[in-house]
Amino acid sequence: MFTAFLIKYAEIGIKGKNRYLFEDALIHQIKYALKKCGGRYEVHKSQGRIFVDILEEAPGDTASGEACGEIPGESLGKAPGGAYGEFDFDETVAALKTVFGISGICPVVYTEDEGFEKLCETVIRYLGDVYPDLEQTFKVKARRARKDYPKDSMTLASDLGEAILEAYPQMRVDVHEPQILLNIEVREKIYIYSMTIPGPGGMPVGTNGKAMLLLSGGIDSPVAGYMIAKRGVKIDAVYFHAPPYTSERAKQKVVDLAAALAGFAGPVYLHVINFTDIQLYIYEKCPHEELTIIMRRYMMRIAEAIAGQTQCQGLVTGESIGQVASQTMSSLAATNEVCRMPVYRPLIGFDKQEIVEAAQRIGTFETSILPYEDCCTIFVAKHPVTRPNVGIIRRHEQNLAEKIDALVEAALAGRELIVVGRQ
Ligand code: ATP
Ligand code: MG
Repeated sequence: MFTAFLIKYAEIGIKGKNRYLFEDALIHQIKYALKKCGGRYEVHKSQGRIFVDILEEAPGDTASGEACGEIPGESLGKAPGGAYGEFDFDETVAALKTVFGISGICPVVYTEDEGFEKLCETVIRYLGDVYPDLEQTFKVKARRARKDYPKDSMTLASDLGEAILEAYPQMRVDVHEPQILLNIEVREKIYIYSMTIPGPGGMPVGTNGKAMLLLSGGIDSPVAGYMIAKRGVKIDAVYFHAPPYTSERAKQKVVDLAAALAGFAGPVYLHVINFTDIQLYIYEKCPHEELTIIMRRYMMRIAEAIAGQTQCQGLVTGESIGQVASQTMSSLAATNEVCRMPVYRPLIGFDKQEIVEAAQRIGTFETSILPYEDCCTIFVAKHPVTRPNVGIIRRHEQNLAEKIDALVEAALAGRELIVVGRQ
């Protein structure tokens, strides 16, 4: 029965010019998300509001004629002979729930302006269809964006209220805390809505620059990427693999995780770096208890080099304090030391259980727990240092002086780019 959605978004901090950037980015992301759905949509901005209208099929297209029967009569905005085709309510709402920046999704019925009597009929039918139990309090809130409408907002609200009470005597008006707040917006068409489905919040991807996510096959880094993307940051990713020590399936798992992220963050440019030679060289030349730290330092250096070439303004990792030996405060300091770019660690204060729950919520957990080795687990020492001394680490890295620059150059030059999630 619904023919449109009103998109609500938090407006704090988006005054003036920023508002247009925010709205345009939001519209762009909504269009991207809806491409996955079968229906035809028009996303438009109208006097400070964003609407997603569901379009009718072109006249003469009878393939979707059956759906027509489920939609109440013509006064719900359907042109005679038209139909809403492949539109699926749940699928559309699910897609909109992936768009950062949306705080609420209001399903709307819109109708042509065919006089007050007709509007009353539509509103009465709307309430009957949407609420199985009408023993509820309500308030009508009318807004007139078109000043040539014959009734002013107050009169329209109270006249509609009267008509509703007549049709449904079990309802009662409560202007302070109504159970049903019925919104009527008179625009070119008249929009009717009363429900709000929560959106994911955050800011539209693309409004806050771009960052490079170090994406492993684990549980943490996809969640870290999600959290940064939610703040409006576009995400590129880098994955270090070490064939033949890590399998093609481990790499595929990372591609799948990038695809899951792309469901929220838009297309992800995934850079795959062959890390084997660097890892073997570190293994050969450095104390084994420092392997992980030195490897992580090279990952950060390489990630930063790619980030610099791809206009990223920061790095993102899934680290959290104390989770493993390489994530103690001293280890984090030792890894951080090689970067000049800011390194964002959105999970820094999270417990593992909290990260697991987040991964389940965003749909990456099942992929993350598939059992393929990632490159760190092969070369881990039995007793890795937990309090690395940066001076000593630097000194041991000098053992690599002969070949490491050439190996890093070769790894960068040989990187593979996989674009995930482009439609
Ligand atoms: P995750 O669950 O994200 O794999 P983890 O608990 O296994 O994290 P580490 O292996 O120490 O922790 O890695 C810490 C962070 O370093 C990861 O969250 C990720 O951002 C990055 N990282 C680790 N290994 C790789 C890799 N092979 N490719 C890209 N990034 C990596
Ligand atoms: Mg890992």
